Amino acid sequence: METFIPFSEIPSSTCRQISVVFCDIDDTLTFHGKLLAETYKALWRLKKEGIYVVPITGRCAGWVDQIARLWPVKGVVGENGALYAYLDDSVNPSKLRMIFYQSKQEIEENRHKFEKIKEEIFNQISTLALASDQPYRLFDMAVDFCEDVPPHSKEQINQIEKIFHKFGATTKVSSIHVNGWFGDFNKLKMTQRLSRELLKLDLTINLHKALFIGDSPNDQPMFEFFPNSVGVANIRRFQEDMKYLPKYITNQEAGKGFSEMVDLLIQKRNQ
Ligand SMILES: [Mg+2]
Repeated sequence: METFIPFSEIPSSTCRQISVVFCDIDDTLTFHGKLLAETYKALWRLKKEGIYVVPITGRCAGWVDQIARLWPVKGVVGENGALYAYLDDSVNPSKLRMIFYQSKQEIEENRHKFEKIKEEIFNQISTLALASDQPYRLFDMAVDFCEDVPPHSKEQINQIEKIFHKFGATTKVSSIHVNGWFGDFNKLKMTQRLSRELLKLDLTINLHKALFIGDSPNDQPMFEFFPNSVGVANIRRFQEDMKYLPKYITNQEAGKGFSEMVDLLIQKRNQ
């Protein structure tokens, strides 16, 4: 049974109310890892239409800095909700501002704990390394067990996780890294905060003004929260394993699906 409504069937009245598009980046804006010209153009079309674009990503602070400066976006949430950034053009010259979920004191305390974790991990397993993009991350530590180092065993991966847990960190194991972080931030919490502070939009009462588009299980909290939620076509691959699905779906995959959504959204607003 088809669970999704084609995006082409979204009512024009819904489209006219949208003032902000929140979007995932990997496999939602990108297509096989690249940002296509048509997708980048779609971002500019939204800006011209007066709709804010805010990417929401797990990517590192280094990426967030670049995106907030260069892309036609209002702001960016990065490191899975640990921070957001925007280009403040109320000052001249405009200034990049980065807002952290945690207080200065918490950040300082966590920094000490990360140092101890690092020491203990490398003392126990000297063949591991920090992920190559670690210098651009602020709130999570990624231990490489398979990317630039020889593959490590399951037991060793468990050992790494145990050390993180001993210091109170949360961990997630990907195919190449063990990621560890402190705190209860997440993408949705930081998106709500950015909306209040930067867009002056309280999502608890103005949810109809926002749309979220994503592609995979890690976008589920957003699909659950936003009634105007869209999946790019590649989401069908994960459909079986997902509890919360988007309401609408595009015909095309990834970045091509994103530009399809933007075309229809703008067309319907002006009908
Ligand atoms: Mg994605």
